[in-house]
Amino acid sequence: MSDPFDLLVIGGGINGVGIARDAAGRGLRVLLCERGDLAEHTSSASTKLIHGGLRYLEQYEFRLVREALAERERLMRLAPHIIWPLRFVLPHDAGLRPVWMLRVGLFLYDHLARLRALPRSQALRLGRDGVGAPLQKRLTRGFAYSDCWVEDSRLVVLNAVDAAEHGAEIRTRTTVESARREAGAWTVTLYDAERRQRESVRARIVVNAAGPWVGETLLRTLALEARPKVRLVKGSHIVVRRLYAGDQAYILQQPDRRIVFAIPYERDFTLIGTTDVAHEGEPGPVRISAEETRYLCACINRSFERSIGPDDVVWSFSGLRPLYDDAAANASAVTRDYVLDLDHEGPPVLSVFGGKITTYRRLAEHALEKLKPHLPGMKPVWTGAAPLPGGDMPGADFEAFASTLAAEYPFLPEATVRRLGRAYGTRAALLLGDARAPSDLGEIFGGDLSAREVDYLVRHEWARASDDILWRRSKLGLHMDREGVARLGRYLAAASGC
Ligand SMILES: Cc1cc2nc3c(=O)[nH]c(=O)nc-3n(C[C@H](O)[C@H](O)[C@H](O)COP(=O)(O)OP(=O)(O)OC[C@H]3O[C@@H](n4cnc5c(N)ncnc54)[C@H](O)[C@@H]3O)c2cc1C
Repeated sequence: MSDPFDLLVIGGGINGVGIARDAAGRGLRVLLCERGDLAEHTSSASTKLIHGGLRYLEQYEFRLVREALAERERLMRLAPHIIWPLRFVLPHDAGLRPVWMLRVGLFLYDHLARLRALPRSQALRLGRDGVGAPLQKRLTRGFAYSDCWVEDSRLVVLNAVDAAEHGAEIRTRTTVESARREAGAWTVTLYDAERRQRESVRARIVVNAAGPWVGETLLRTLALEARPKVRLVKGSHIVVRRLYAGDQAYILQQPDRRIVFAIPYERDFTLIGTTDVAHEGEPGPVRISAEETRYLCACINRSFERSIGPDDVVWSFSGLRPLYDDAAANASAVTRDYVLDLDHEGPPVLSVFGGKITTYRRLAEHALEKLKPHLPGMKPVWTGAAPLPGGDMPGADFEAFASTLAAEYPFLPEATVRRLGRAYGTRAALLLGDARAPSDLGEIFGGDLSAREVDYLVRHEWARASDDILWRRSKLGLHMDREGVARLGRYLAAASGC
């Protein structure tokens, strides 16, 4: 068996790849194993906000909100292609939170954000302001504030790309089946589903970033007693055809004191979510229930002029929040902050409970800080000023970058330039290479997905199956018909020699 890895990371969600990237950049020898595809579970099922979490102020989660707001400012600069500002409209709804409470919350939110790249909150007269137009006339007052949008699953993939470029080994479709402490290190059994092979590797430290499986991994895979407990809370979203004009999102208060977002999505759609439903039993893939769909439609129908029903839903997705169990009475109130549990009775294992997409980078720094005594010679923090792959655009200015890309590839329609620029940033040039005419892009599968892009995703981003490409590396699944999906499947099968 070869030399042990310094770190074996279980899980290719945002927390696993974030830790793998940070560790690889500090000179550690890292192996990351993901059972399925990168971001296959919770990290592609989020609301896709890089946000402080206005709602968490009500739960006095000031540490989390302050850290998340600082990360918001930072991540906007490090990945301006996949993270951009979003303005939210918060209507005041008589009988729900009073105006003074909304005002105080937004005042705090503005002030907890130390840097000010985004505009401050402001009061709105919804009857006079265009953003009030899609709302019911009874909603006359409101506020506007800013947070950011993130392409969640692309954030995961770009962290994995950067981890690999710093020397980490990233293995998808590889399950960590079992691990035991032996002769001062971990001996870990892996199963590679593509090659149908089992293999044994050694690692000095294991990081358990298995998301919803974090507790199960502790108990079964690592044969340890689970100390902190994980609480699984399902959250679902629906996607409908675009409900309203404009780039603004809406944050709608509900009579059960929850809030639900309506967000412009993939140019032609509106994303609506989320729910909070306690999940009992084993973790696993989850789907929206009819009750959740009705709930989300009702949330929209309470505030918008246009009403929607289950028949308007064109797509939905659900995920499990792997929250740290703080014994809160209801699912919405469980802390969204993260807890890092270190067991060092022998070779260490660090388990990640909870967390947000927004705070993944700081979580990774904290994780390595905790492991520092076991990693002598580890280099210092570095990710705070290092752009993610494709994010190295001058002045973090996406619009200027998109103009340059359009000038370099004048044969591409504007919408394609913007989509590729958003997805790949400066690496779009690596994908497009010497293409000088549409025919240079090869077969088109629909939704402007070309063979050249598919080849790039297979070669550089671990894409193997149609779903990896249509629902995680992109959301082109929303724009493609069945025939195109079938052709893509055949193309991938031929490329892999199946
Ligand atoms: C509905 C919803 C909305 C959310 N909205 C937001 C938001 O807007 N903003 C925000 O900041 N956060 C949001 N979050 C929180 C955020 O999405 C999660 O905290 C984060 O994605 C968790 O990432 P993770 O890496 O811990 O888990 P995951 O993404 O689930 O990754 C864990 C991975 O481990 C793998 N795995 C498990 N066991 C093994 C094994 N034995 N071997 C190999 N691999 C294994 C799994 O296949 C999985 O891919 C939301 C969450 C939900 C559910």
